Amino acid sequence: MNRETLVSTLLTLSEIISTSGNETPMRCALRPLLEGHVDDLRVDGLGNLIALKRGTGESALRFLVTAHMDEVGLMVVGYTGEGALRVEPIGGVNSQLLPGLRVLVGSARLPGVIGLRPIHRASAGNFKTVPAVDNLAVDIGAKSREEAEEAAPLGTPVAFATTPRNLGESLMGKSFDDRAGCTILTALLQGERLPFDLHGVFTVQEEVGLRGAQVATYAVDPDGALALECTVADDLPKEDEAVSPTTQLGKGPALTVKDRSYTTPPRLLRHVMLTGEAEGIPYQLKQPGISGTESGIIHTVRAGVPVMTIAVPCRYIHSPIALLRVSDLEHTFQLVQASLRRMTPDVLRP
Ligand SMILES: [Zn+2]
Repeated sequence: MNRETLVSTLLTLSEIISTSGNETPMRCALRPLLEGHVDDLRVDGLGNLIALKRGTGESALRFLVTAHMDEVGLMVVGYTGEGALRVEPIGGVNSQLLPGLRVLVGSARLPGVIGLRPIHRASAGNFKTVPAVDNLAVDIGAKSREEAEEAAPLGTPVAFATTPRNLGESLMGKSFDDRAGCTILTALLQGERLPFDLHGVFTVQEEVGLRGAQVATYAVDPDGALALECTVADDLPKEDEAVSPTTQLGKGPALTVKDRSYTTPPRLLRHVMLTGEAEGIPYQLKQPGISGTESGIIHTVRAGVPVMTIAVPCRYIHSPIALLRVSDLEHTFQLVQASLRRMTPDVLRP
């Protein structure tokens, strides 16, 4: 997949609404991109989309690559007497971002706004604290509780209403976490055959507890795995000059050494770094300590799986508008593909 196709695929996937537990729209969007390029495509009991691309037969390895289809958002959990929707967060959503925000409700993509008190009515202290999500409501213009209930039944997903934008060197849009990973996994599955079988899984419910990755790893029973992610780039705005950023834009794919959920096996990490050096692809090491990814569950399945997370750095993830560099997206795809091409059983030994 070339640069233009990576960009157009990511922008297309970014517009799809697919909060955790409601991943059908992403499965529907991915299927036509994969059909004709893979040897098998199936959906498991949780909704994971599992693709198999057979290898050339040179190696007997079974390799798993995951990217999660779900995104953070909100869910309708009740109604006000006036016909507004009560909501709860799905995954890690910062409630500071919500008041006044445009949203899309349900598969019909009904336009809504997260209501807030007019500034004219603010008493001195009122605007100094951030309202809890429990105290917010989504207004879709319904005139009564019954009308609201009919338009958006309990459980209806609510997503950020963001139109993605191509800024040339950078892209803006919602849910790059993890549509960037889904884009790269799609590119891998559309690309050349590897020496071994590649099991590409587009997973469900990552943002609410790594659930899809757990059952998919059990089913695939791989010898090794990679989790493709989109991770925190906190180089802007800087909270503290003295603290090194987790990752930075423009420095290439972020390789996890250790996060809160797992530690990358040294041989696997070295293999990916050496691949980058041999192929002239830049990379950066993610500052250890922050966040968790699907690797955190994949390594514990069955008798244990050597796994590593490779991520596209991205500013403002889990917010209505994220921003990433196209060069990082492209370099992440190139590094992942080259690392797989050079993969041997030796790399996966403890
Ligand atoms: Zn993610």
